[in-house]
Amino acid sequence: MTELSASARAGLEAVVPGGVTTRAADRLRMAHDASHYLLHPGAVITPSDAGQVAALLAYGGRTGTGLTFRSGGTSLSGQAVTDRLLVDVRRRFRDLSVLDDGRRVRVQPGVVLRHVNARLAPYGRKLGPDPASESACTVGGVIANNSSGMTCGIEFNTYRTLESLVLALPSGTVLDTGAPDADARLRAAEPDLHAGLLRLRDRVRGDSDSVRRIRAQYAMKNTMGYGVNAFLDHDDPADLLTRLVVGSEGTLAFVASATFRTVPVHPHAATGLLVFDSLGAAMAAMPAL
Ligand SMILES: Cc1cc2nc3c(=O)[nH]c(=O)nc-3n(C[C@H](O)[C@H](O)[C@H](O)COP(=O)(O)OP(=O)(O)OC[C@H]3O[C@@H](n4cnc5c(N)ncnc54)[C@H](O)[C@@H]3O)c2cc1C
Repeated sequence: MTELSASARAGLEAVVPGGVTTRAADRLRMAHDASHYLLHPGAVITPSDAGQVAALLAYGGRTGTGLTFRSGGTSLSGQAVTDRLLVDVRRRFRDLSVLDDGRRVRVQPGVVLRHVNARLAPYGRKLGPDPASESACTVGGVIANNSSGMTCGIEFNTYRTLESLVLALPSGTVLDTGAPDADARLRAAEPDLHAGLLRLRDRVRGDSDSVRRIRAQYAMKNTMGYGVNAFLDHDDPADLLTRLVVGSEGTLAFVASATFRTVPVHPHAATGLLVFDSLGAAMAAMPAL
């Protein structure tokens, strides 16, 4: 990207005072994630709270400026790099509250997974999603990438263990989808979005081929993109939006906070190498294992 114009920089500074850098060293530091792409952002912006992110999104909408969120930066396909404006959402979003004796946890998106699990360990609990990058990846990235791991399968992934989100929408609206009146609030603040989600839900449900394909795809682990299975599993637009954000790679909303149900840490765990004569025999052993 070419240098940011003075007026664009002033516009961004007005939204995130003191949080905009165009220094070459900062742009270079953020020019790659764990993929093979190299893209130098025009500026790196570090908002300090969800209100500033919401204001940034509204600014982006007004001026047609694209924004890319970056958290742990461990994405493997270039999701966390851009040659436009990069928003660092890792550094300032690190609050964590353990709830209900560890059975639930409310966490901001910049918290690294290992840190969440370390806080849950005294309760014998952990998060469901378990990507191998847990020492560096963050809650925001896990939700937006729908990251999983070796043990969570499709039963304990983000979609299944997520309770609610605080979202900043592209218009700048901030919504807590866990609030009892979340759906009414969404309808009041974003009537078109609310109506559109209902229309989409009914269109998907009314098309037997869509229903069959969604059921088949989401019964497997390697399904990417928006959590469109929500259209079959949930009714209210606020609940639909919560699940559509899973796998959305930062394109639908900013995740400002997430509340998860946690899963138990098994007291005994072991790793073994088992040799079977055939694939069929290996699969047949799975239920017992
Ligand atoms: C060594 C290694 C092992 C890995 N193992 C696994 C694995 O086992 N399973 C697996 O699924 N993946 C794995 N990954 C991929 C990657 O680590 C995960 O997808 C990880 O969850 C990304 O998290 P992050 O914090 O690094 O996100 P980033 O890479 O910073 O961002 C990921 C996406 O999320 C968006 N985003 C970030 N924060 C927010 C937010 N607050 N709101 C909205 N959007 C946001 C970004 O725009 C981007 O699209 C691995 C990667 C590496 C390098």
